[in-house]
Amino acid sequence: MMSETTSQTMNPIASILNRYPALVIDGALATELERRGCDLKDELWSAKILLEQPEIIKQVHLDYFKVGADCAITASYQATIQGLVKHGLNEKEAIALIQKSVKLAIEARDEFWSDSSNRVGRPKPFVAASVGPYGAFLADGSEYRGNYGLTEKELMNFHRSRMKTLIEAGAEILACETIPCLIEALAIAKLLKEFPSITAWVSFTARDEKHISEGQVFADCVKQLEDHPHIPAIGINCTSPKYISFLIRKAKKATNKPILVYPNSGETYNAMKNDWNGDPVLDSFGEQARKWYTAGARMIGGCCRTTPEDIRVIAGWARRQ
Ligand SMILES: [Zn+2]
Repeated sequence: MMSETTSQTMNPIASILNRYPALVIDGALATELERRGCDLKDELWSAKILLEQPEIIKQVHLDYFKVGADCAITASYQATIQGLVKHGLNEKEAIALIQKSVKLAIEARDEFWSDSSNRVGRPKPFVAASVGPYGAFLADGSEYRGNYGLTEKELMNFHRSRMKTLIEAGAEILACETIPCLIEALAIAKLLKEFPSITAWVSFTARDEKHISEGQVFADCVKQLEDHPHIPAIGINCTSPKYISFLIRKAKKATNKPILVYPNSGETYNAMKNDWNGDPVLDSFGEQARKWYTAGARMIGGCCRTTPEDIRVIAGWARRQ
């Protein structure tokens, strides 16, 4: 029988938060690749760049470490074996590509950490392997809606093979992110029991200051994950910054785990047009993030449309708490 926790279970979050007041998550990957000229107008999103321009992905990871990120979230958000096979890869190639996302981030981290001048006053960064939601595989924006019409078991079956692949590639934690619905979080929590050596953070998208995208009350979702030993942190990503402080306060009452937030820049994503609308609030993102720390979040970074500059500002105040 598999035990619920083992002494070998990695928890890079605790090892940083035991020594530092805050943990700096990195910023956007996909939109940052676009900003650097990559064409991501494709259902495979950053997986396409993994295939064609992996060195740019490694450079983005390096740039986030340089400005102070304590972790890199890998380019596997939309890369699933099912999705890649649908796009013409065979299963072996799909597995290799997903593993490459982890290896690139590890390479960037090791290169960064091998320079002793980079090690001053900060913890060794870790690699969080992105596990995007089922909605990201659908590539129709349903990671901001939910309502997949799938059972918990079907969702477990969807997530199993990529999780296994990411773990085998050396992921130090899984970043189960942009989750729109409680059933998917519960499916992930259950699936984690099959992988006792790894932990995973679970991060939802929210539609307002109280509810996750599909409509469940965020605090209730947090409570349902509270007793799970393999989930060391819970939070919100890819959501407008304007809701974040409220959501953190709600979560604080429901959990003793560290709360993580990495909102987007405040624009809204139109999946049909593969485009962003609205006014960015980028100029003050890093400063707004200070309020999230005050509200109780201990892991803070940025999602879509945030940049290394935003993360530099966050790391600037986060290290001085
Ligand atoms: Zn995002």
